[in-house]
Amino acid sequence: MLHSLSIELRSVSVLFRFRVFLFQSDSVISRTWVLDARLETRLVRKMATKSADLKHYSESTEEKIAKQVFEWVATETTYPLGFYNLVIETSNAKIGTSFSDAAVYLQVIEEVRESVRKDHADGFPTCGLIPIKDILNVSILKDFVANGVKAIEKYPDCSQQSFLALFEFLRERKKHGKALQTLITTTPPTNGNKETQVMVALAHHLFSQLIPGKMYEVDEYAKQVPKECGCGCKARISEGNTSVGSQGTWHGRVDILLSHTIAVAMAKRQTGKEEEGEEEENLDTDAEEPVERDGVLLDQKVLNQILAEAITNGFAQANMHKDTLSHFLIPTFGTTSDHVTICLYD
Ligand SMILES: [Zn+2]
Repeated sequence: MLHSLSIELRSVSVLFRFRVFLFQSDSVISRTWVLDARLETRLVRKMATKSADLKHYSESTEEKIAKQVFEWVATETTYPLGFYNLVIETSNAKIGTSFSDAAVYLQVIEEVRESVRKDHADGFPTCGLIPIKDILNVSILKDFVANGVKAIEKYPDCSQQSFLALFEFLRERKKHGKALQTLITTTPPTNGNKETQVMVALAHHLFSQLIPGKMYEVDEYAKQVPKECGCGCKARISEGNTSVGSQGTWHGRVDILLSHTIAVAMAKRQTGKEEEGEEEENLDTDAEEPVERDGVLLDQKVLNQILAEAITNGFAQANMHKDTLSHFLIPTFGTTSDHVTICLYD
C-alpha cells in the first residue's frame, strides 16, 4: 500500500504528489528521554559478524536498553513512535536547482493556512502520524524483545551486523558522547572551522558508529576538513565526493554520506550573521552557548533541503541498486548538534 505511493522523480509533471515520512526525535518524546534515545535508537555496524560477538551481548546492559526502545517501537499503541506522512503538492524539482534552493510545498502547510483563514472553524489540520510498526517490518524487533540476542542469531548476517553495531555503540556510548560534547562545545584550532568540526564529530562519533562497517565520507569541499578527529582519539577523518542528484533535477553535495548510500544533511547555524570571517569570530566567542535553537530542522528552508535530499537520494539509490534496495525506504537524516530528523522515501 505504502509502496504504491512511490513515484519517479524525473517523470513527474508540474503538479504531482508523493509522500515522505518525517520523524523528529523530540516531537514525540520527552526532552530528557531524547538525550539518551537520540544516541540509542538509530540503526547500526561491522562486516563479518561472528556469532560469538553477538553472544557476548546476551543478558547485557546493552541488550536491556535496546529491548526497552524496540518494545516501544514495535508494540506501543497509545503513544507510538511514528513518522509524519507528508504529502507534497508541488516542488521545483524539475527546474534543476541545488538542494539549498529547493522549494517544496506541503499539503499540510496549505491546510494550516486555510484553517487559520477560517479561524479554525473546521478544526485543526493533521498530517497523520503513522506508527513505525505500520511502515516498517518490525517482526525482528518483536522477536528480539521477546527472546533477546539469542533470537537474532537465526536472522541473516546483515541483521546480525546491524544489532552488533548497535550493541557496540551502546557499549561505547559514554566515550562517543564525551567526544561529541567536546567537539560541539569547544573552539576549533586556528586553522579549523566550527561547523566542519561539528559535522565531522557527528559523522565519526555518531552516524558512522551505527552502520555495519562504519564507512562514511564527509563533504571533501567543506571548509577546513581536519585530517584527524579533534577530540583526542586521533581517528582519521574520511572525506570524499558526496554529490547526489543531477543537473536536471535537485542536486548538490550532502554533508555526510554513510556507506555511499545514506545522506546526512547538517542544518547550518542561523545567526543572521553568515559573513565569512565574522561567522568564525562569533563561533569562537560564543562556544558555550547552545549551537542551534530548537526546531531549526523544521524551518521551512532547512526542511525543504532535507526533503529534497531525501527524495533525490532515495530515488537514486533505488535505481542504482535495483536488486537490493528497490523495496526499501531509504533514510535521510537531518541533523544539528542536538537534534535529528529522519526522512524516509520510497
Ligand atoms: Zn574523536
